[in-house]
Amino acid sequence: MPGKTILVWFRNDLRIHDNEILLEAVKKADHILPVYCFDPRYFTESPYRTLKTGAFRAKFLIESVAGLRASLENLGGGLLVACAKPEEVLPEIARRYQVSEVYHHREVAVEETDISAKVEAALWKLQINLKHFIGHTLYHKEDLPFPIKDIPDVFSTFRKKIERDSAVRPSFATPVSISTPQLEPTELPTLSDLGLEEPKPDPHSVLNFKGGEAEGLKRMHEYFWQKDMLKSYKANRGVLLGSDSSSKLSPWISLGCLSTREVYWEIKKYEKEWGASDSTHSLILELLWRDYFRFMFKKHGYKYFSPTGSISEKPELSATQAYLFEKWKNGATGIPFIDANMRELKATGFMSNKGRQVVASFLIHNLQVDGAWGAAWFEENLLDHSPASNRGNWAYAAGVANDPREKRQFDVLKQAPELDPKGDYVRTWIPDLAAIPGAVIHKPWALSPEEIAAFGIEPSSVYLHPVLLQNYFPAN
Ligand SMILES: Cc1cc2nc3c(=O)[nH]c(=O)nc-3n(C[C@H](O)[C@H](O)[C@H](O)COP(=O)(O)OP(=O)(O)OC[C@H]3O[C@@H](n4cnc5c(N)ncnc54)[C@H](O)[C@@H]3O)c2cc1C
Repeated sequence: MPGKTILVWFRNDLRIHDNEILLEAVKKADHILPVYCFDPRYFTESPYRTLKTGAFRAKFLIESVAGLRASLENLGGGLLVACAKPEEVLPEIARRYQVSEVYHHREVAVEETDISAKVEAALWKLQINLKHFIGHTLYHKEDLPFPIKDIPDVFSTFRKKIERDSAVRPSFATPVSISTPQLEPTELPTLSDLGLEEPKPDPHSVLNFKGGEAEGLKRMHEYFWQKDMLKSYKANRGVLLGSDSSSKLSPWISLGCLSTREVYWEIKKYEKEWGASDSTHSLILELLWRDYFRFMFKKHGYKYFSPTGSISEKPELSATQAYLFEKWKNGATGIPFIDANMRELKATGFMSNKGRQVVASFLIHNLQVDGAWGAAWFEENLLDHSPASNRGNWAYAAGVANDPREKRQFDVLKQAPELDPKGDYVRTWIPDLAAIPGAVIHKPWALSPEEIAAFGIEPSSVYLHPVLLQNYFPAN
């Protein structure tokens, strides 16, 4: 094929807006070859006997890749889809299409960087260079006021320095057209090809999440402009039910359907129109948390995330811990607030930030189960799973990260009535408890069997686990 061809390897950057690798390839090459690989390693069982990717996220991923293909086709190009390990298939594709270079965005988590290293080595044998770009964070690594090795480990110090000394770069322009070689037709896998079943939509889901760049941009516009919810973000973030308490942008951000820089500049546009507020600042702060965990991963690797500094040593569970972990996973611990959150996660792929903090603290500090097991369950189920955010937040909950407050333990019995004062959230997810009034819904075990029966509920259907209650909440 005459002219230079650059292969653009899409991973967690499934968009054409603010995408440096795409824009740069368009500038440098005569033809670009966009490729996405469904890597079979992400569709297997983890060492924690959970799935690496559950049905909700797999569906969202397939939709997102389809969205990317549609966007590229609109620009006059296309997308090659492979279901294979990138280190095996990319060199093969590169050779077939006489590619001179491969571009990708650098990742931070160990599994992802291992894969890049394997791809780099395999391409090197063909004398093809894998060029790394930095493109997943709000602040570019090179604009930080410190080198990675000196990044403050305490979030508030990190934030203050960044806010004072760094600036967010403008978004990259979207290419107006692309030229791809004549691509052989390739099909997206179905869920069953990935070994998964179609997930059942739940009527109580906070949002009907659909993958893809266009859907992510649509949600951002709806939340910021159409519904004008950004102005009350700070006050509403703790609300557990409904679509608009928080932005719900995380699934799109995690797969890179939406760039955080694009979100940041949209917030700035909103501030120009309506003024800056605690709410606009709070949302930017949350985006900074995401950067922080990515930079911590880059600085410390897995050392940051586990007391022993190694995740290869999988913490084993005693028989009791294994039993309690199963109860926790399935929303059957007997603590209504924990169970409601865990049921929401399993039924919809989403859980609020407060919910995540409380259930993580409960697993680690009350049930005494190593957080790595909880992180694995979140990895299977979360629509927005992203290794640095997930691992980072679990480490934070466990107090193994460098947090001056060390043990971040929540008292679920205090938190539950504060977060769910009338019990509506618990009632939504545990219909068995629907008849119990707000005052006692968070402590149904305080009711006698006669009182339970008086609410028209079978005492046996109020699932409480007496051993758990005795062990962890003896005073209640
Ligand atoms: C134990 C635990 C595990 C988590 N795992 C993940 C994960 O795998 N992926 C993920 O995106 N978030 C994770 N979070 C962070 C947070 O709960 C979600 O990002 C947030 O609830 C998503 O809802 P939203 O988009 O409405 O957030 P908003 O409140 O609207 O925030 C906007 C964006 O900021 C980012 N963000 C917000 N809070 C955090 C945070 N604490 N850490 C990192 N980024 C944040 C997200 O990209 C989010 O979309 C985890 C939190 C906990 C406590």
